[in-house]
Amino acid sequence: MTLVVLLGAPGAGKGTQAAFLRQELDIPHVATGDLFRAAIRDGTPLGLEARRYMDAGQLVPDDVTIRMLEERLGRPDAAVGAILDGFPRTVVQARALDEFLAGRDRRVEAALLIDVPADELVERLSGRWICRAAGHPYHIVMNPPRSPGICDIDGSPLIQRDDDRPATIRARLRSQLADLDAVVDHYRRTGALRTVDGRQSIAEVSAGLLAAVRAGAESA
Ligand SMILES: [Zn+2]
Repeated sequence: MTLVVLLGAPGAGKGTQAAFLRQELDIPHVATGDLFRAAIRDGTPLGLEARRYMDAGQLVPDDVTIRMLEERLGRPDAAVGAILDGFPRTVVQARALDEFLAGRDRRVEAALLIDVPADELVERLSGRWICRAAGHPYHIVMNPPRSPGICDIDGSPLIQRDDDRPATIRARLRSQLADLDAVVDHYRRTGALRTVDGRQSIAEVSAGLLAAVRAGAESA
């Protein structure tokens, strides 16, 4: 049983590392964003409830998210564990998760933080460009197009969404990082926090995360 929470700001590389950990640990990757999309697509009662809030432009309340997560963690493939991604986002959610797990004699064994300084996050996130025709994604450093400013696939010009401009990113990160810091503090208090330097190479971050999970499992 390995229950891991993956923490990191947008741009910290959580998606890549979640895929690595899922394969390495052979446990499901449970991303709350995917859960919502699936529940809405399948028209489940929780999906319909979530959709009402989203259609109204509101955040989905914690209790809906938590019930969705409970349902997911109750499925057979999650009996051996799971990698939670995108949850908890706030201390309230972190406490609710602890409570839910405690009721099942489980707990978060490791909260893995991929730590990247804010300035570097802005640099990474503002490198995103998409093509005008189909929204094919590029990144000026990580995934540049073959010819500058042109989509490899359809030849249309690359544009930057307002959301991807440095000033917008900096403003959005401020509130996201405040929430993340509070969640990090929560897991520091519970003793589950393991921090890995996210400025290292992808392979080094992967190795660090894996070592942290295994150390967590031993002390559990
Ligand atoms: Zn394109």
